[in-house]
Amino acid sequence: TGLVVAMDGPSGSGKSSASRGVARALGLRYLDTGAMYRAITWWMLQQGVDLTDPGAIAARALDPVLTLGTDPDLAVVAVDGVDAVAPIRTAEVTAAVSAVSAVPEVRHRLVAEQREIIGSGGIVVEGRDIGTVVAPGAAVKIYLTASADARALRRTAELTGTTVAAQRAAMARRDTLDSTRKADPLAKAADAVELDTTALNLEEVIAEILRVIKE
Ligand code: C5P
Repeated sequence: TGLVVAMDGPSGSGKSSASRGVARALGLRYLDTGAMYRAITWWMLQQGVDLTDPGAIAARALDPVLTLGTDPDLAVVAVDGVDAVAPIRTAEVTAAVSAVSAVPEVRHRLVAEQREIIGSGGIVVEGRDIGTVVAPGAAVKIYLTASADARALRRTAELTGTTVAAQRAAMARRDTLDSTRKADPLAKAADAVELDTTALNLEEVIAEILRVIKE
């Protein structure tokens, strides 16, 4: 069966760009599991589901139909056939996603879909629980980290109308919510290779991951 590369780590650690770069370099598919949590969150917001009520989220967890692409050069995310590539990146979705991803019914559903997409492998999978829950048997597990300042700086450069200080605060809040939830908290797999990207550029991060894969 094909190679599975699990890429975990907090927001702003450089996971997405590095994961796509590694997939491209090795001719592998790419799965962005965060996009799946964001897509369900976007749908729940549109439906007016009360996101302060985990029971209300759980009751609707199976309703939206998700379509995810696995081409590292072409983002495909649709909900009930409607393109969601841009709307899942808004500040509104980003602020709400931790509440939705904390609900076990949502995680259960998405983990099953992620395993189905992974299939017999040949894929780089990016998320928070890939090496621990989704694909514990992955041949390669990378855990990316970066200093809070570096992460906030990268995020701020990607967005408009925000400051490094505001981003650092928003990211700290989301990391706390993600890492303290009861269902599958953000955690580094015991057998993951940790890579601190604070002082590295994208090319250096990709090269380092390719080196780990070849070992
Ligand atoms: O990676 P990204 O920032 O797009 O992820 C958005 C959110 O989705 C995270 O803050 C987290 O709440 C959730 N998530 C998750 N498990 C994953 C991927 C993302 O809980 N495997």
